[in-house]
Amino acid sequence: MKNVTKLVVMKRKKFIERTTLGFSSVLISPYVFSEKSEFTNKKKTAFTPFALATWNVQQAVTIAGKALDKGTSSLDAAIQGVAVEEANTLNTTVGNGGAPDREGNVTLDACVMDSKGNCGAVLAVENITHVAALAKDVMEKTPHVILTGEGARKFALSQGYQAENLLTEDSKKAWRKWLEKSNYQPEINIENHDTIGMLCVDQQGEISGACSTSGLAYKMKGRVGDSPIIGSGLFIDNNVGAAVATGLGEEVIKTVGSFLIVELIRQGKSPQEACEEAIKRILTKQKEKPSFQVAYIATNKKGELGAFSIHKGFSYTIYKNQKSQNIDAKSIY
Ligand code: ASP
Repeated sequence: MKNVTKLVVMKRKKFIERTTLGFSSVLISPYVFSEKSEFTNKKKTAFTPFALATWNVQQAVTIAGKALDKGTSSLDAAIQGVAVEEANTLNTTVGNGGAPDREGNVTLDACVMDSKGNCGAVLAVENITHVAALAKDVMEKTPHVILTGEGARKFALSQGYQAENLLTEDSKKAWRKWLEKSNYQPEINIENHDTIGMLCVDQQGEISGACSTSGLAYKMKGRVGDSPIIGSGLFIDNNVGAAVATGLGEEVIKTVGSFLIVELIRQGKSPQEACEEAIKRILTKQKEKPSFQVAYIATNKKGELGAFSIHKGFSYTIYKNQKSQNIDAKSIY
């Protein structure tokens, strides 16, 4: 880079840093530091942390919420929360015990994003249960954002993750039964817990999130949905808010749903309005009532929440002030 250009870039960088800092402190300070300003030299009052997740996952949000209460960062709390469902073999849509693709392979997808805008993702990984933690390792320990398939698996093993058989006897039985007809038709709200997408706000008011899934049951080998795609399955902008998706990933990707929601919040919509608009955006492409489900949850910087789905049956779970609650989301149909 020529010296003059370098100088201009540096000056511009300083200017952006100064203005961004000024701007973000205006946005953040009323909520994060409720009483004492940093000029009084007294201890700052912390933000009330919370964990918010797709579907009825009380244990997962409680683990994340309790970690937040103890001062854990929003990113680590989200990964700890999501890990509960990744290890739960009864949940056939996430982690160990997840439904396989049509060839009988369990392939997992996950991503994480933190309050600084860093992100990491793993796509179509086999034999590794805790793929959200693996996505964080990709983010922190490699020069990349995304690792896929065998590369992601090899990286996991090099980091000390254990290789496991993720196809449980029950999942194998269900897959064999599916093979009898091999009719591929993703069902609406297959279970009461699906892809887990979790948004956490920590005591500093920093927002991070994690999303983890085994994807659609009996998908084609190599198929990846929205869940590990930053902007589609998950998006965080620490100055604005965050959103995460569940449901038919193909439709979420076409509208870059989570990014869309955060941008709508930036433009002044509430998280609820933004989730509703993102669902409507999907529906404008449909000629008739869709036979698929998509659902979003979101928060803004004030901790206001939004949740909306195409069909009824979607719920979300929140842990705040030592209590967890599962709430039915509003829907179009
Ligand atoms: N979004 C996930 C995918 O398309 C599936 C789901 O959330 O049900 O892979």
